[in-house]
Amino acid sequence: AFDMLVVGGGPAGASAAIYAARKGIRTGVVAERFGGQVLDTLGIENFISVTETEGPKLASALEQHVRHYDVDIMNLQRAVKLVPASQDGGLNEVHFASGAVLKSKTLILATGARWREMNVPGEAEYRTRGVAYCPHCDGPLFKGKRVAVIGGGNSGVEAAIDLAGIVAEVTLIEYNSSLRADAVLQRKLYSLPNVTVITNALTSEVKGDGKKVTGLVYKDRSSSDFHTLELEGIFVQIGLIPNTDWLKGSVELTDRGEIVVDDRGQTSLPGVFAAGDVTTVPYKQIVIAVGEGAKASLAAFDHLIRSSAP
Ligand code: FAD
Repeated sequence: AFDMLVVGGGPAGASAAIYAARKGIRTGVVAERFGGQVLDTLGIENFISVTETEGPKLASALEQHVRHYDVDIMNLQRAVKLVPASQDGGLNEVHFASGAVLKSKTLILATGARWREMNVPGEAEYRTRGVAYCPHCDGPLFKGKRVAVIGGGNSGVEAAIDLAGIVAEVTLIEYNSSLRADAVLQRKLYSLPNVTVITNALTSEVKGDGKKVTGLVYKDRSSSDFHTLELEGIFVQIGLIPNTDWLKGSVELTDRGEIVVDDRGQTSLPGVFAAGDVTTVPYKQIVIAVGEGAKASLAAFDHLIRSSAP
């Protein structure tokens, strides 16, 4: 059995594994896809101390750093169930789709999240070539350009306000007849001169020239007419889905499916910690996931030295 098993091989999981291994304890990290969301990212310009890098490069650096230590890395394994220890200090079990079962005194859950997609033609093709999901990450790439934000909830309206300070023009597209964001955000949004809001609109296609995004087609839901907006960027803000289906019924989740953690990364189960995009910690960023992974790992180590027999 492991002293610490990390489930998830993104920035949070890699960081947790390194902090655990440096304590000299038996550490494992198991992931469906080592690297996580970073693998799907092109330019990364906000991982502090690295001025500019690319996702696959950073993912391979994360893996190399973990491999530098005595860590069991198990890739291409999907966790399907967590069976908590029957008593504090006992062994927790993680069951995998392959049928394998791993046991560990402490667990770090770091299975991350994924952006909800629009599922329209062109979206996948132009992902990272104009279709973006993270205004904090990609906003500056569209300086002086025209962008749309899809989604009129809090994150969509926050994104539109944020982008309005960087880009030339923002068009916010909302499916319903009104925005769902908090009133204070809506007031701010409507006060901005370079923002247009279109409600009752269904995005139906991302247009491009083969290299990058050139426009967006939406359907006016009241008239059923299609309209095309010419623009350079589309920020999709229709939700972030935590990868916690496999945890339902074992650990406390919010109604949005995020793992509830305290300020040490402790979940509702003793000996089970969580870190990164999968948790309630706000602002889903690499630098934050790395910090949270380190913190959860140190907290799990603290738990270990207090609860296990010598
Ligand atoms: P993830 O990176 O999501 O990793 C989760 C890990 O868990 C993966 O290894 C996955 O395979 C594994 N996993 C999931 N489910 C299971 C399961 N059931 N069993 C086993 N393993 C499982 N952030 C920035 O700071 N800067 C940027 O420029 C930036 N750009 C981005 C661009 C894009 C296109 C995307 C999608 C995200 C971007 N982000 C950026 C956000 C950043 O990638 C995330 O905040 C960060 O990767 C979160 O790390 P994590 O370790 O919590 O989760």
